[in-house]
Amino acid sequence: MNNEQVWQSVLGEIEISLSRANFVTWFKDTFISSFENNRVVICVPNAFVKKWLEEKYHKNILSALQNVTHQEIVEVIYKIELKKNNSSFQINVTENTEIKTPADIIPQQTNNNNQNITSSNINRFGLNPRYVFDNFVVGKGNELAHAACLAVTNNLGKSYNPLFIYGGVGLGKTHLLQAIGNEVAKRTDKILYTTSEKFTNNYIQAVTGGKAKEFKNLYRNVDLLLIDDIQFMGGKDGTQEEFFHTFNELQQNDKQIVMTSDRPPKSIPAIEKRLISRFESGMVADVGKPDVETKVIILEKKALEKGINLDKEVLIYIADHVQNNIRELEGALNKVIAFHQLKGIEPTIKTVKDVLGDFISNIQSRSMSPKDIIEAVGKFYGVGVKDIIGNSRKKELVWPRQIAIYLIREELNTSYPTIGNELGGRDHTTAMHAYNKIYHEVKDNGNEKIKQELESVKQLFHQNY
Ligand code: ADP
Ligand code: MG
Repeated sequence: MNNEQVWQSVLGEIEISLSRANFVTWFKDTFISSFENNRVVICVPNAFVKKWLEEKYHKNILSALQNVTHQEIVEVIYKIELKKNNSSFQINVTENTEIKTPADIIPQQTNNNNQNITSSNINRFGLNPRYVFDNFVVGKGNELAHAACLAVTNNLGKSYNPLFIYGGVGLGKTHLLQAIGNEVAKRTDKILYTTSEKFTNNYIQAVTGGKAKEFKNLYRNVDLLLIDDIQFMGGKDGTQEEFFHTFNELQQNDKQIVMTSDRPPKSIPAIEKRLISRFESGMVADVGKPDVETKVIILEKKALEKGINLDKEVLIYIADHVQNNIRELEGALNKVIAFHQLKGIEPTIKTVKDVLGDFISNIQSRSMSPKDIIEAVGKFYGVGVKDIIGNSRKKELVWPRQIAIYLIREELNTSYPTIGNELGGRDHTTAMHAYNKIYHEVKDNGNEKIKQELESVKQLFHQNY
């Protein structure tokens, strides 16, 4: 095996245990530059990746290297070096429009789409001052996004531009996005925080009111543009066109752009290809569900903020039973606190169970599982769940099986070994191959027929959630 083959096999092993976004972010443009006397030099594109591989993935890399080479590796060195003939990303250069922005056209940002915030606690940038790095609990699920946000904050426009954060609802995307804003606001006023819906509305108003030029100037004259929920730009063609030019202008001038979305760039429906490639041109970081430990720390912190000290046991009970996201976790905690304050009693496992009983069964019945996806796939293709997870290799079963694997991974970010289990105890490599196969067809080949099938199946299971 040459170095490249070794590295490809190592990557194959590592990919299994990571989400796609993590994998791409940390392992894109890495390679082995030398492998001698059981010493390996791994080249990485920048210092951030170097640090991350050293601190977070060294163990995985080392063990994968040993598995692949059957050698005792004595040393792994991470070195910053760019791949030769690296086809670098090209940016269309747009005309440099003159920027003359009167401070008075900064829009008043009073309304917002976050149910947890009222306008009274919004600062002049439209940011909630409560969303800061200090009270953001870092744990499995969000450490990548958190690190990227910090890097961006400390090095505006220079470390990762744009930064694209995606993940399910209530997992802290808005919190992180606004934390960047709140931190940067200490140094500059040239910050804009907006949602893609607000961007769209402002744009339409500006155009119909003859103020398109002011609009352009406003958005193109900032050091930091934060756009929340960019997925809603899908399908809005005029807005996408405008945003594309805004984006290029800012990126060319090293002005930082950070976006959040509930799904990765490629999965945003009805979004222009050129925007997808812009969104992917910096760093794409996902936020996933927190593990129990992280949830316990979050609960503990939030309870203390309210001046309440809850038993560890109670915290663990809540964390264990509220699984989907942190917004729900806060909701559960508030319920517990309110109930006990009202009654004037100390929370115990028993009382907490009683208070949260309905709340928990309610959210559990609302959360989607791999089984729901398999069922929807079966329904769509007119085959039974038993057949999908069974052993038959008939074509009319293999296809739904692969589609189910792909959708479980895309929708729930489930690990390959777990997907394999859900599909009747298959090996994780089977799951991985199926996923990669469909991914390739849909994302690389743009196979419209398959895309359509996937959309139809998704509609089936999203109806229920
Ligand atoms: P999203 O934008 O991903 O839907 P939010 O940022 O609105 O989610 O987060 C939902 C709630 O959970 C907010 O009140 C936020 O402060 C809180 N939250 C999310 N993640 C964390 C975290 N890691 N530490 C502390 N609070 C968090
Ligand atoms: Mg949000």
